[in-house]
Amino acid sequence: MPLRLSWIETANSPETPFPLNNLPYGRVSFANGSPRCAVPIGDLALDVSALERAGLLVLDGGPALQTGGWNELMARGPACWAALRARLAELLAEDAPEREQLTPFLRPLAEATPLLPFEVTEYTDFYAGRHHATNVGTMFRGADNALPPNWLHIPIGYNGRASTVVVSGTDIRRPCGQLKPKDAEIPHWGASQRLDFELEMGAIIGGATQMGERLTADEADALIFGYVLLNDWSARDIQAWEYQPLGPFQAKAFGTSISPWIVPKAALEPFRTDTPPRDHALLPYLQTNSPTLYDIQLQVDLQPDGAERATTVSRTNYREMYYSSAQQLAHHSSSGCAMRVGDLLGSGTISGPNRESRGSMLEISWGGRDPITLATGETRSFLEDGDLVVLRGEAVGDGFRVGFGECAGRVRPAQM
Ligand code: MN
Repeated sequence: MPLRLSWIETANSPETPFPLNNLPYGRVSFANGSPRCAVPIGDLALDVSALERAGLLVLDGGPALQTGGWNELMARGPACWAALRARLAELLAEDAPEREQLTPFLRPLAEATPLLPFEVTEYTDFYAGRHHATNVGTMFRGADNALPPNWLHIPIGYNGRASTVVVSGTDIRRPCGQLKPKDAEIPHWGASQRLDFELEMGAIIGGATQMGERLTADEADALIFGYVLLNDWSARDIQAWEYQPLGPFQAKAFGTSISPWIVPKAALEPFRTDTPPRDHALLPYLQTNSPTLYDIQLQVDLQPDGAERATTVSRTNYREMYYSSAQQLAHHSSSGCAMRVGDLLGSGTISGPNRESRGSMLEISWGGRDPITLATGETRSFLEDGDLVVLRGEAVGDGFRVGFGECAGRVRPAQM
């Protein structure tokens, strides 16, 4: 699929993250005004809440973009998602007759303050990257027992906290908790010394299921509305002490950052790709009839407070995952667990096969054994106060890119 041309010239640059091919969904405010739904196009933001009020955007079932978030639109279902996307593409296409009518609803994107784009109703995080699970398992249990016996059969997850999912740009305070160094007999209270990021994608569920209902993996894929970048901030020392036998709890509950633009599944269609080869065939409920991963290039930049430039500490790709979000969602509903509109599923840390492609500091520094040197000359094993962590992602097509924007957060000192 080639670049689709728009009458907004900056949307036709091969470098813009927001060409007509993308049309992601965000929620912003301008000059501290009221929140509104917006769609970035080139270097502009289209105020679709105002567009709907003006009657230039009419959705079946009445207005859906007046509440300041995208949950209501999601709840209308895939036919409505497609109709909205088609109408936006029509209004912004090169030959659109409405361009003068649209001009009052376009503002510079740089003037928009991004807000959380949807109400996160529930949040679940997975452990579905094979390189990540192998690295972590090797560090903690040795190379022979790196992958737990269930790992190649089941997408492992835990129920996280929706209440502390925040939008890119929100500071993250270093958490305190129970810490028990290996040689200590009892734990003490203190600030985490092993604060980490996790490079992930988040899938946003656009439909609901009833308690007792089970989704096939193909039905699950159809229920995904779109994707964001996700940083599952993690306190490794708190995690190491608390995680047995029920998994992470406070180590990951203090904050999760997402990028501000929901990239619709429709924009990612040209980039679909298969999951990797299987060691064991998956049970039928996890099998899909079409590819459900995407070729999305990802990177992590780390910039200490006051440093002039950032250092890219990881480059990897979403296609490295062993389980897709569709498979995770099928598994999530397999017991009859009800899913909600606005459910967020974290992919799990996305690491590639080598050191340069590892998606967390735990892996990059191999548990602190091999610190990395930043462009400033400083070294890092884990995150320091003041560090700015920025995740970036884009799917690169022929002469265009579908960008996710940034998922940024700065580490603030602990409050003891
Ligand atoms: Mn995670």
